[in-house]
Amino acid sequence: MDVLIAGAGPVGLTLALALHRKGIAVRVLEKREGLSLASRASTFHPPTLDALDSLGVFAGLRPGGVQVDRILWRRVDTGDAASLDLGILAGETGFPFRWHREQHWLTPALLAALPPGTVCFNAGVVALEQDAQGVTLRTEDGSTHRARYAVGCDGASGAVRQLAGIAAETSDYAHRVLRVLTPLDLRDHVPGLDGLGYLYDASGSCSVLRMPQNWRLIFRIAPEMTDGVAMEEAHIRARIARFFPGLADMPVSGCDVYGVRKAMAVAYRAGRVLLAGDAAHLTNTRGGMNMNAGIHDAMTLAATLRAVLDGGGDALLDDWASARLHTVRHALLPRTDARVATDPAGEVARMAALSPEQARAWAREASMLDIASVGAPKLEDARP
Ligand SMILES: Cc1cc2nc3c(=O)[nH]c(=O)nc-3n(C[C@H](O)[C@H](O)[C@H](O)COP(=O)(O)OP(=O)(O)OC[C@H]3O[C@@H](n4cnc5c(N)ncnc54)[C@H](O)[C@@H]3O)c2cc1C
Repeated sequence: MDVLIAGAGPVGLTLALALHRKGIAVRVLEKREGLSLASRASTFHPPTLDALDSLGVFAGLRPGGVQVDRILWRRVDTGDAASLDLGILAGETGFPFRWHREQHWLTPALLAALPPGTVCFNAGVVALEQDAQGVTLRTEDGSTHRARYAVGCDGASGAVRQLAGIAAETSDYAHRVLRVLTPLDLRDHVPGLDGLGYLYDASGSCSVLRMPQNWRLIFRIAPEMTDGVAMEEAHIRARIARFFPGLADMPVSGCDVYGVRKAMAVAYRAGRVLLAGDAAHLTNTRGGMNMNAGIHDAMTLAATLRAVLDGGGDALLDDWASARLHTVRHALLPRTDARVATDPAGEVARMAALSPEQARAWAREASMLDIASVGAPKLEDARP
C-alpha cells in the first residue's frame, strides 16, 4: 500500500480518487459506519469544479445543482445595488460560475468512482507509528494498516494530527450563525437576485443562497443569544422582516444554528504523515471556502505524492506542506476574516465602485482561482 487516508469526507475521498487515478495504491479508513449526510458545505468554486471535472465526477452531479452566474449586493433600506457577473472569469476556468449543492452529494459520487473495498468503514484511527519506511495506523477494532505515507483527512477532531504530534492554533469567531430555509423563490421578490445575494441595511446583513430545493438565509447571531431564542418563531420573523420587507410571513421549512471556528495546524507534515482539509484548517463559513481549500489541498497533494513516489524526493512534500500552510495563513484565513469584518453600511457602494479590473481581481480571489493550485509540484516534477 502506498497511501493510507484517515477520513472519508469530501477531502479524503477526493484525495483517494486523485491518487487512484494516478496509479497510486490507496486505502481510506473511516470512523463512521457510512458517509456523513450532514448539511454542511453548499458552495463549489470554479477551480474545485475544474478539479472534480478532471476526476470525472462533476458531469454526473451538475444537473442536480444550481449554477450561480451573478452575485448581488443590495441595500434593502435604500435600494442601492451592485452586481458582478462571474462570466468575467471565462478563459481562466472551464466553469466560470459558483455551483450550489450539498456536499453529501459529492461524497457518494467520489466513493462510487473508487474501486470497491477502497474505503473501510467503522475504522476510526486510534494509534499511529512511523519509521523510515512507512506509517502504521491502528483502528478501533485493533486491526493495523501500513503504507508508505498516511494523510489525516479526519476533519476538525484532528485525531491523526494529534497522534502525529502536530499542534494547532484555534479560536472561535464571536458570532454564531442562524440558517433559515424557505421554499419561496426569492428571485421573484429581490430585484437582480440570481443565486447568491448579500443584503444589507445600515448595521447588518443577510446572505441568501439558492439551493436545488430551497433557499438558505444566513444571519449572524450575537454570542449572548441562546440557540433556542435564535430559533424562536418571533426572532426568525423579525430577522426576515428586516431584510425582506413585506415578506415577514414567508414559508419557513427549517432552521438551525451553528458555531464557527478558526484553526490552523502549525505544520502540515510530520515525517511520513500529512494533513489536508479540516484536519489542517478551519475558517468561517462566510465565502464558502474551507471545503474548497481542502479539495485543493487534496489535488495538489496527490500530484506531489505522485512525483515523490516517482523518485522526486521527500523535499517535495516539504515544499507542498509549506506552500499550503502559507496559503492558509496569508490568503484563506485573512480573506475569510475580511468578509466577516465587512462594513454593512458601505459594502454595496464599495462593490459598485470597483473598476472592471478590480471586479475581476475580486472575482478571482472570491473564486479561489489565485490559490487553488499553490503547492502543486512544478511540471517537470510531476508525471501526467
Ligand atoms: C454549516 C456549514 C456550512 C459550510 N459551508 C461551506 C461551503 O459552502 N463551502 C466550503 O468550502 N466549506 C463549507 N463548510 C466547511 C466544510 O463543510 C468542511 O470544510 C468540509 O466538510 C471538510 O471536509 P473534510 O473531508 O476535511 O472533513 P469532514 O467533512 O469533517 O470529514 C472528516 C471525516 O473523517 C472522519 N473521521 C473523524 N475522525 C476519524 C478517525 N479518527 N479515523 C478515521 N476517520 C475519522 C469523520 O467521520 C468524517 O467522515 C461548511 C461547514 C459547515 C458546518
